[in-house]
Amino acid sequence: MYIGQKSVRGGIEDFLCPFTDMYITQGSNSNFSHKGVMANDVRGRVSGVRYPYYAPCTSRCIRTYPMSGQVMWQSINKVRFANGRVDYATYMTAHDDSMNAYVGKVVNQGDELGKMGTKGNATGVHCHIQVSQSNDTTWTKNEYGIYRFNNEYDLDDCYFVDYTNIIYGMGGDWITTGNAPVIELPGSEAVDQILHVGSKVKFDGIFKVDIIKRNTNLFGNTKLTGVSFSNYYNEKASSYHWIPLDDFTEVDKYGSKIGQDDIVFGGASYVINENTYEVKEIDIPTNSAKLVLNNHEIWIFSTFLKEV
Ligand SMILES: [Zn+2]
Repeated sequence: MYIGQKSVRGGIEDFLCPFTDMYITQGSNSNFSHKGVMANDVRGRVSGVRYPYYAPCTSRCIRTYPMSGQVMWQSINKVRFANGRVDYATYMTAHDDSMNAYVGKVVNQGDELGKMGTKGNATGVHCHIQVSQSNDTTWTKNEYGIYRFNNEYDLDDCYFVDYTNIIYGMGGDWITTGNAPVIELPGSEAVDQILHVGSKVKFDGIFKVDIIKRNTNLFGNTKLTGVSFSNYYNEKASSYHWIPLDDFTEVDKYGSKIGQDDIVFGGASYVINENTYEVKEIDIPTNSAKLVLNNHEIWIFSTFLKEV
């Protein structure tokens, strides 16, 4: 992308490639410092030059790591990724010697986010970038001792490369917004992933059954509702946090229904829900939407819902 570039369709920002010229020096899941993680090291046209890079979407600084010129950013709203998913973006940039971000700083899409550099444990001037398609800020080491996000995706599944000159793309399947048309029906309400009362939504994801309520058809899922496992276990949570199983179908952890018997166990089974629901209420502080499933009111984090 170039400085000042914006891309908004149907009210949603497209997540753009932050680099004007992209030469990938280390790809995802390499044998070096990206073992088991989806991250790219990117330099510009000329080796050793500290080129600027730009905000792929309007983003807020969540954390800084000055020793390595590293910043955790998160999109203000849900964005559209190159793989078609619409969700929050949480991403890390690293090695900026002149890093001037601070927690809470907001950078608009297309404005300068930082500069390639060598700060921290860097070999040659570059920007390290790693993207989670979620609002989960968990940043923990994997089995190889490399830091990772939950819900990481490879970079060609994350950014659109409109106006990025790809010098060396490491064989990635890079696409532009022109390859991903957004159909906007005239006169209909925009499906913009901004939920309000009356929005039609589906559950977006595969969910683990954390706990089953005794003698009922209700289950708990700590990720969907934010209720702690111990509250579920001790049944302290208000009744609406229990989710009726009726509309959910058992799958394996990859989402396949094959070989599943719909007899689910707490802590072991995975389920999906393909029905459409109407949002009854919104709670902005917790970013949750109230749905009614089988006459049961439940609050669900909106990041796990997809407007349809
Ligand atoms: Zn790296």
